[in-house]
Amino acid sequence: MEKQIVGHEQIITQLRHAIQSSRIAGAYLFVGPAGVGKETVAIHFAKSINCLELGENPCGACISCRKTDAGNHPDLQIVGPSGAWIRIDQIRELQKRIVFRPFEGVRKIAILREAERMNLEAANCLLKTLEEPPAESVLILLTANLDALLPTIRSRCQIIKFNPLPPNELARYLNEQFRLGEREALSVATLAGGAVGKALANLNSRDAEESETGQPADEGIPEILTTTDRLAVFRIAEHYGGDPDRLDVLAEWYRDLLLLHQDVSPDLLVHTYHVEALRQLVPRYSRLRLQAAIKTIFETKNALSRNINATLVLEVMTLKLMSD
Ligand SMILES: [Zn+2]
Repeated sequence: MEKQIVGHEQIITQLRHAIQSSRIAGAYLFVGPAGVGKETVAIHFAKSINCLELGENPCGACISCRKTDAGNHPDLQIVGPSGAWIRIDQIRELQKRIVFRPFEGVRKIAILREAERMNLEAANCLLKTLEEPPAESVLILLTANLDALLPTIRSRCQIIKFNPLPPNELARYLNEQFRLGEREALSVATLAGGAVGKALANLNSRDAEESETGQPADEGIPEILTTTDRLAVFRIAEHYGGDPDRLDVLAEWYRDLLLLHQDVSPDLLVHTYHVEALRQLVPRYSRLRLQAAIKTIFETKNALSRNINATLVLEVMTLKLMSD
């Protein structure tokens, strides 16, 4: 089944227009945060290009649409990192398949997920395809980090930017589709930074945890906010090393404290269920300290994305947050 596209109307219109006016570019670069819908839109685009009915939208019923939905259309390949990197042999394989004429569709389409994970060798190899795109082919690169791509690659693609949805809009969708309560929907949407895929992934993992324990998954207030025990540093750092998304969650806790500091309505908090416990913590923190903590967390995330020694970076962060 095709995933539902939430938002991005302008992009869909732009891509549809390209198909209708036969001006499909040889290479696109979809840029936007993880989980925002780049891959869903890319697959929708591929499906529209190769749909046998020439309607405004892919019909969803022809053999081409059905094969795309089932993930076995011979003219569509989706490539992503194997391990930490996209390797040169994966790019060579992609190139080998994309040079042939389409078997069944109008175009041969290749989607490259997390394109910033191409190592230099792979990127240089891909460059050849971008410089001389095979006839009847479309390459769609997806990335959350435009700066991490070689300028020579960027300049050969048509760049399309994906913005996260405003949290209210995403909350409305979650409220309508998943019957989340309004407050809960807003808190899930805010936590996901407006990225629908991330919100759904969070909901799924939460549901999974709930069904395991029979209790709503809620780790409660992070230890780092309450402890002064220096011996806890290594254990806490290790906890955050297990899943970088936990840093986003941690930043939200500090943001909640900051909001309470500024006396805003508790409705705007992400962790509305913990408002009383958070209130008790507020006097321990100055506003500057909270702002510095949020900055530290984001700097740490950045450092981790540059593959710097993760353990060390997280330990330094934990020490800093505890002692600032
Ligand atoms: Zn169709």
